[in-house]
Amino acid sequence: MPRDRQPKPLLPVEDALARILDGLAPHGSERCALVDAMGRVLASDVASRLSLPPEAVSAMDGYAARADDCRTAGDILTRIGESAAGRPWDGSLGAGETVRIFTGAVVPAGADCIILQEDVDAVSEDDGTAVTVNEAPRDGQFIRPAGLDVTAGDVVLTAGTVMSARLISLATSAGHTEVSVWRRPHIGVLSTGDELVLPGDEPARGQIISSNATYLAAFVRACGAVPVDLGIARDRAGAMLEQVRAAPVPLDMVVTTGGASVGTHDHLVSDLKGAGTELGFWKIAMRPGKPLLNGRIDDVPLLGLPGNPVSSAVCANIFLRPAIARLSGGEHHPQMIAAKLTAELRENDQRQDYLRSRLVYDESGRPTVTPARKQDSSMISIYAHADALIVRPPFDPAKSTGDEVLVMRLDPLM
Ligand code: AMP
Ligand code: MG
Repeated sequence: MPRDRQPKPLLPVEDALARILDGLAPHGSERCALVDAMGRVLASDVASRLSLPPEAVSAMDGYAARADDCRTAGDILTRIGESAAGRPWDGSLGAGETVRIFTGAVVPAGADCIILQEDVDAVSEDDGTAVTVNEAPRDGQFIRPAGLDVTAGDVVLTAGTVMSARLISLATSAGHTEVSVWRRPHIGVLSTGDELVLPGDEPARGQIISSNATYLAAFVRACGAVPVDLGIARDRAGAMLEQVRAAPVPLDMVVTTGGASVGTHDHLVSDLKGAGTELGFWKIAMRPGKPLLNGRIDDVPLLGLPGNPVSSAVCANIFLRPAIARLSGGEHHPQMIAAKLTAELRENDQRQDYLRSRLVYDESGRPTVTPARKQDSSMISIYAHADALIVRPPFDPAKSTGDEVLVMRLDPLM
């Protein structure tokens, strides 16, 4: 091919991702009970309504006292009361006095240290009893001061945080029962193809079961969004548009699979050149996933995934997950780890490669990674049992056994 007829270089993966994410934002917030807030994204900061602890409390079982009263082993104090968790002692402690105290109980006024119960001899558990101190305390010992952990009014969680069990516990301690979260985005899922039958239907000759839609619905749910089933669009011009426009609820994004290649039965690209639609990019430097595209239908962003099951699934991990995170008010960045190869790899071409692989930790806890021998993008059984993708940049040189490569772990739910 003459130089001036060279094909346009394909769009790099990072550029495609940036264009997909451009302008995506969450729509609308709602109140959510903390017990239901797992995985939800905070729409506003959370300030603590209380100091934690609200008052000074004891960190040990023992005796509250004034350190000045027991500088010498053998000093004797008089027990004048008891402070237990939930039952504070209301008086004020004077010279030579001690109050029996337990972990988590409020430290009485006047006391400035807790003497461990193991470090005293007490005649009885009655008030008025003599308590001999065998080990002189340090000033302030075993007291958790008010606000040690959190001060009332402190922002303990910021907007954009994804709620987890431990953050739910923090917000609960801070005096809240509900939080403001971003609405879950609604993601329309549409498959395309004359060969597809719905799960449960018996495929006739030449037909296959539409597994992409099931995968994507589960994937969308695992990302914390709501999948909206848009069915199967058949291979004719305009079918995809009709089905997207007939969505039962307003959509924050549409994701399609198939129909984006260059065959006579692929209509996605031409459909996105009609009224009310827009075609963004089409075709990227990625394997699997070359025919990826983005666009809009009536202002709803559209992500067109390839039809091959592995291509659509890998592209969902790379593009749909961060897009849903944005629409949910958060961010998603894949966490890459370095792992030692157990096989050789040929030099890579111009497309960023995502090799279906298995990650194993050796005896010393170091990750090793084995790429599946077959990397055909139709082979869902290999993808289903993979737990990682080796990510190879364009033109990555050949690799030998023992070389390090970058690996993206697949989320166990995705
Ligand atoms: P296409 O991009 O439409 O040519 O599809 C590429 C390949 O993916 C074809 O072999 C299709 O049969 C297959 N395919 C397309 N859509 C689905 C689907 N929803 N579920 C499973 N396989 C699909
Ligand atoms: Mg097709």
